[in-house]
Amino acid sequence: MISSSHDTIVALSTPPGSGAIAVIRLSGNEALAIVNTVFIGKDLNQQASHSLHFGTIQDNETIVDEVVVGLFKAPHSFTREDTVEVSCHGSPFIVQQLLQLFVAQGARLATPGEFTKRAFLHGRFDLAQAEAVADLIAAESQEAHRAALHQMRGGFSQKINGLRDELVRFASLIELELDFSEEDVEFADRQQLKQLVESIQQVVAELIDSFAAGNVIKNGLPVVIAGKPNVGKSTLLNALLNEERAIVSEIPGTTRDVIEDEITIEGIRVRFIDTAGIRNTEDHIEALGVQRTHEKLQQAAVVLLVIDLANDLPDSFHKEEEWLLQVGKPFIVVGNKMDRASPAWLALLNDRKDIACISAQRRLNLDDLRHRLIEYLDGQQISAEGTVVTNVRHHSSLISTQVALDNTLKGLEDGISHDFLAQDIKHALYHLGAITGQITNDDLLDNIFSKFCIGK
Ligand code: GDP
Repeated sequence: MISSSHDTIVALSTPPGSGAIAVIRLSGNEALAIVNTVFIGKDLNQQASHSLHFGTIQDNETIVDEVVVGLFKAPHSFTREDTVEVSCHGSPFIVQQLLQLFVAQGARLATPGEFTKRAFLHGRFDLAQAEAVADLIAAESQEAHRAALHQMRGGFSQKINGLRDELVRFASLIELELDFSEEDVEFADRQQLKQLVESIQQVVAELIDSFAAGNVIKNGLPVVIAGKPNVGKSTLLNALLNEERAIVSEIPGTTRDVIEDEITIEGIRVRFIDTAGIRNTEDHIEALGVQRTHEKLQQAAVVLLVIDLANDLPDSFHKEEEWLLQVGKPFIVVGNKMDRASPAWLALLNDRKDIACISAQRRLNLDDLRHRLIEYLDGQQISAEGTVVTNVRHHSSLISTQVALDNTLKGLEDGISHDFLAQDIKHALYHLGAITGQITNDDLLDNIFSKFCIGK
């Protein structure tokens, strides 16, 4: 069992930097007493929970700031501990002074995610819900917001716990059989158990499948920009992102890495991936085989195959086209540099309406390209209705659950003894429990909460 520390923690809970207001939060047994020693106005110990108090905070005789103090007494706070929120003027200097003052009075600076970790340890919510808090803060689109909110409100946990409860019942019946092993009795109806495992398998499989959608909701639909060096991939990425994000250069292959960024087009979250890192190769097919580009292409929902209308011959991209058709990736051919299209291309373009002709540099026809892209992606747009797995940790626990369930089923078919059967079911229960935090350890918790920001 994990022990919760009883010291009082303090952190800035609003973003660092200057602002109208900054909020410093303290949580723990001494939170009220610590603030009370430096707060001039009234005795905070005498005040009711969920009340606000105006006053000054003083370091000996020096006034540090005028503040409003909010009180949330245990257990009616986020952490379920005594919590004080001090709203001060949003100056980094004042914040620093106040933090130092509270530390001098006995508080400890909080580690990342420590407030949320305390809330979890005090049973405020389970682990999946705690993780959803981080997702909710990070959500940048409506779907991501909806999925995180659903998870935070326990939708996902309910589903997992429902499955777990049913299995626990069978596990205990089989444990009981172990106690009566001399008498060779079966308390757990094998046929019913088989049906239950199968139905749980189905739900788990659906959850695993939903991860592909969950990933898209969280990270956007991946669109890979591919093509030979110097056709204008980075310029196109810049134009689409509307900012100087990638490095554009006259020298082929100067964009050094795979560059990614997200934007929302007509409500659809899109993650553009520029693969301009390919260089030093005559043969682009070979270049497409470059490991990292290959991986990115595999992930793509659609590929923008960029060709150069000014410098390339019209048949120069057929190999790439064939390659993409072969691997079955949907793609859009983007004819760039239309402002300087060669006569050979101009003669041909009338017959190739499938090519989206643009000038990335002059930002011509980009709307047409966006429109074509959205037509492609619209069909793949995923909704966060229902339960969607968005978390890598949950995904891998679900896969481990599935393996344990497969073993259980196989064991049932082979008629293995109760103790082996009990073992397989225990494994499935273990992995399901790991998702919601019924089964957990300090390392796992530290790992999860360290990804939060300080003050959360
Ligand atoms: P990448 O290697 O495919 O990423 O290509 P870059 O984006 O670095 O562009 C290569 C060169 O083509 C640069 O000099 C760009 O200014 C130029 N370029 C890009 N788009 C256009 C365009 O629409 N018209 C013209 N004329 N030049 C362009």
